[in-house]
Amino acid sequence: MRQSNLYIPTLREVPADAEAKSHQLLVRAGFIRQSVSGVYSFLPLGRKVLKKVESIIREEMDEIGSQEVLMPALQPSELWEESGRWQTYGPELMRLNDRHDRTFALGATHEELITSLVRDEVKSYKRLPMVMYQIQAKFRDEKRPRFGLLRGREFIMKDAYTFDMDYEGLDENYDKIFNAYKKIFERCNLNFRAVIADSGAMGGKDTHEFMVLADIGEDTIAYSNESDFAANIEMAPVNIRYNKKEEASRDLKKVETVDQKTIQDVSDYLNVSTSDCIKAILWMVDEKPVLVLARGDHEINDIKVKNVLDAEVVELASEEQTKHYLGCETGYLGPIGISSDVQIIADHAVASIVNGVCGANERDTHYQYVNPERDFEVDLYEDLRFIQEGDPSPDGKGTITFAKGIEVGHVFKLGTKYSESLGANILDQNGKSTPIIMGSYGIGVSRTMAAVVEQMHDDNGIVWPTSLSPFDAHVICVNPKNDAQSELGERLYKKLKEKRFDVLYDDRKERAGVKFTDADLIGVPVQIIIGKRADEGIVEVKDRRTSEKQEMAISEIEAYIE
Ligand code: ATP
Ligand code: MG
Ligand code: MG
Ligand code: MG
Repeated sequence: MRQSNLYIPTLREVPADAEAKSHQLLVRAGFIRQSVSGVYSFLPLGRKVLKKVESIIREEMDEIGSQEVLMPALQPSELWEESGRWQTYGPELMRLNDRHDRTFALGATHEELITSLVRDEVKSYKRLPMVMYQIQAKFRDEKRPRFGLLRGREFIMKDAYTFDMDYEGLDENYDKIFNAYKKIFERCNLNFRAVIADSGAMGGKDTHEFMVLADIGEDTIAYSNESDFAANIEMAPVNIRYNKKEEASRDLKKVETVDQKTIQDVSDYLNVSTSDCIKAILWMVDEKPVLVLARGDHEINDIKVKNVLDAEVVELASEEQTKHYLGCETGYLGPIGISSDVQIIADHAVASIVNGVCGANERDTHYQYVNPERDFEVDLYEDLRFIQEGDPSPDGKGTITFAKGIEVGHVFKLGTKYSESLGANILDQNGKSTPIIMGSYGIGVSRTMAAVVEQMHDDNGIVWPTSLSPFDAHVICVNPKNDAQSELGERLYKKLKEKRFDVLYDDRKERAGVKFTDADLIGVPVQIIIGKRADEGIVEVKDRRTSEKQEMAISEIEAYIE
């Protein structure tokens, strides 16, 4: 394409509100423009890169037998009522009415819609397994849209869903998609880790996030320097798996920790964001579960104890109340004891449970189900939340390093949550009706594009990997007024086009300095500079990454680009 015809509005100045490097560079290099907060247009260069990410995703998803569909962004609220998420999803879900006053959501995700598609048609196990995906705009009214494409309110996602008749099938599909994701992010040249993520079954088998290592990342991950072990350390304290053993309760008092709850269950239930639930723990008080919730912003006034069953809200304001609600007559909770700082209490409640050093409401007794191994089976990854940098890796291989990560992908074994609530059942081999087993798998397509820029840039601009570069080569005619240069430029441009190379040809009547600055900013990995030796058929080829230049006869160019 001729640069003189292409809309590439480059900027010399860093946009005022842009903190993230990818945000600054994608705007400055003319790839994207903001419409309103968290909403962006993709300009011609941005669209090209986005398409490259999309086609890598399509190739790898098609390779594992997944079928592409396109579902509506506009979804009737009834479906969300059926799953219960109309109530629990919270303010992130964009809601609107039509002229007849029917309510709709703009798809933040598509579990409801795809389940409704399948429930009406798929009636027999013979139709399964099935994997479907789409690439589409998603809408989430994020509390803090920021960092350009990294956290938008409208963004492009690839979402996939698997349907199986049994859990073995789900495991198989999960592994297939997991491996496809690895290939996708490898092909995008990303330095990433697949990490164990927060889920109900904290066994570390049921959900993983794909994290791109970058300082701007909002998650913290812990990974081994010698193995594949990696986990999101913000896994929630409530997320303890209790495999209750009857014999463990022999000498215990009535207070017990309960239930296997996920942070998602808790946040769904309380209608608060998951990050507000980071420090939460369930207790049994007078045989009722009580949730001690220390919210992420550490405001004591914001910290509440909520009765999960009755949804009764109790402000945990005083030490007396704390003692009462936690059933601690001695006022002794753990190694530090009751404090009016609820944050500390919540932390120690968690620590107590994990470490099994819980105090109790009577001397020589202790809470039930608090002691790992004695009271419940301990999973390899259960106490990850206390992991420190330099600790041995839980898998015994190497030591732990911390890093910031950008979540570019997420795979999740859903089970029957949506098939049950929306009534997607099949008849199994014995003719028995049973809910379909589902999985859900997302990739932030536009976020991936930005994550690549976070990892691949220098002081002068973006440095695209070959697989995602908007063009195969950037041919720069230094001085189009010089006949030899413009003649050679035109010839090379035509020749490369004929050979099916996608070339950006800078034929603009701009100063050389402007052209070089723009070329480095845009970041095509190969620059072919047509200058002084044009009359001899010799050009300069610059490697954008290393800035190394070499002279070459134009006959050698094709082989070089390939
Ligand atoms: P986050 O923790 O960053 O809010 P999420 O866990 O809410 O993400 P998922 O529901 O797992 O996101 O969605 C699947 C993928 O969609 C994510 O892994 C991420 O790559 C992408 N994604 C989610 N929210 C956004 C957003 N606001 N802007 C851009 N991409 C997003
Ligand atoms: Mg989110
Ligand atoms: Mg997340
Ligand atoms: Mg996620």
